Parts: sequence; C-alpha cells; structure tokens
Amino acid sequence: MSSSNLCPCGSKRPYANCCEPYLVQAAIAPTAEALMRSRYVAYYKGNIEYLINTRYPSKRKFDDRINLIKSLKTTVWESLTVVSTRQGKKTDTAGYVEFVAVHSQPEWGQLHERSKFIKEKGRWFYVDGELLPPILPKRNQACWCGSGKKFKHCHG
Ligand SMILES: [Zn+2]
Ligand SMILES: [Zn+2]
Repeated sequence: MSSSNLCPCGSKRPYANCCEPYLVQAAIAPTAEALMRSRYVAYYKGNIEYLINTRYPSKRKFDDRINLIKSLKTTVWESLTVVSTRQGKKTDTAGYVEFVAVHSQPEWGQLHERSKFIKEKGRWFYVDGELLPPILPKRNQACWCGSGKKFKHCHG
C-alpha cells in the first residue's frame, strides 16, 4: 500500500477504512475521537460541508462558511497527533480530545487544543475547544514539525 492511501489523520490505516466513510456520509463517527480525526481530515481536504454539519448546531454562526473558506485557503495541515481522550466512547454523551495539529502554511506552527464534543440523537458534534500552549520537545529531541531535525536546529 502506498503511503498516499493512508488516512491523513495519522492512524496509519487506509483512508477507505478510517475517516473516508464519515466524510462521504456512509457511516457516523462512533466516538468523539473518531469525529475529531475525521474533522481534521475535512480541514486537510477542504470539506466545508462536513465541518459545518459536525459543528454543534447552537454553535454554528452565519459567517462559518466564509471563515472556513478563508482558513482552508491559507492553511496547509501536515499532521495530527491525539494526545489524550476523556470519555467520548460509544456509550457516552460527552467527551474531550486533546490533540496537536501541525501546519506548514501560512507558517510552521501547531494547534494544541482540548476539544469538547457532545452526542445528540446518536451523532457526535464538535462544541468548542480550549487552546493550550504548544508542546515543545527538549533541545536534542526531534522537532514537533516533523522535519527530522533536532528541535534546537529547526525554525532558526
Ligand atoms: Zn482517519
Ligand atoms: Zn521544526
């Protein structure tokens, strides 16, 4: 299997057996983490409908679409790492997923967030997220950006 068939969410599983069924509405994400991963892939692939439809209805705003279009134009996502999860299992109705998503455009950076999810009528929705400080490695460890360089030699 070529690496291009792998799901962009970093699961190391084929896209067709990971997030694709959710993005094409062939299946419903069963856990908060599955929804979070599939929403990352929607950002990665520019699937605006999916991002709007998986947002908790009372949190949707009239300018979501225009803001998503802007953000998708300027941001290139490189990788996702799920740091931890709390609740969010099939039998729960709320859950939290902490993750780091790395982008290379408009510049290298990481989004470190703890997202809140709620399940209603069998569907998980993204409610909102708490921004957390970047996770920085020690000087001699590999940089978080995936360059393969030591942290102290990366980003000037
Ligand atoms: Zn996936
Ligand atoms: Zn780096």
